[in-house]
Amino acid sequence: MNDEIVGYVCPICDTPNPLSTNYCLKCGHWLLDTNTKARPIAKREYKRYFKNNSIGSKVVSIIKWLVVAILLIFVVMVILVACHLPSSTTNNVPVTKQVATLSPADFKTQSITIPYDDIARQTEDYVGKKTILTGQVIQIEEGPNNQIIMRVNMTKGQYGIYKDTVWVDYTYKQGEKRFLEKDIVNIWGSVTGRKTYTSAMKVDITIPEINAYIIEMAPQSNT
Ligand SMILES: [Zn+2]
Repeated sequence: MNDEIVGYVCPICDTPNPLSTNYCLKCGHWLLDTNTKARPIAKREYKRYFKNNSIGSKVVSIIKWLVVAILLIFVVMVILVACHLPSSTTNNVPVTKQVATLSPADFKTQSITIPYDDIARQTEDYVGKKTILTGQVIQIEEGPNNQIIMRVNMTKGQYGIYKDTVWVDYTYKQGEKRFLEKDIVNIWGSVTGRKTYTSAMKVDITIPEINAYIIEMAPQSNT
């Protein structure tokens, strides 16, 4: 039954035509022309011709493309997210990085001093708070786009030795001088949460994290 002749393929444009027409549905060629004979096709082949053009298969191919597109978008997002997370660090507290829209002067006036013990013990209570601290830079790593991460000891102890480490994220302003390890700096910024990093001794250490808006060299004073 599948071998039954159900139409003719146009010799000019290769379009399958049903038996009911004498002229090609696509190009209008006379299918009964004996010089360029139309090839008869069986039901099986006719179906195959239409398989690629039927509405059903179009829907299927559109769905296929959608799935591929969604997968691609997903993969791109995963890559983007992965790129933004430094491999050795994770955030324990959701970070709401505050884009400072205040002028530096206003930011400074609104900043409060928070003792290290408070930031460290009740970090969540201080997330989003503007704070000022003076501390010693103990480590700086420069990233792309003038971004730096620093570890800063923010409590001045005996003999002028600083202790109590916080994590500081900062972006250099254009033309700003670089900070160096051992610098004593004033930092104005927002508490963003806690940061866990892996120390050189391969131990995970969690410390308060501050997103700095302004950093200035502290006026030098001897103890
Ligand atoms: Zn034709």
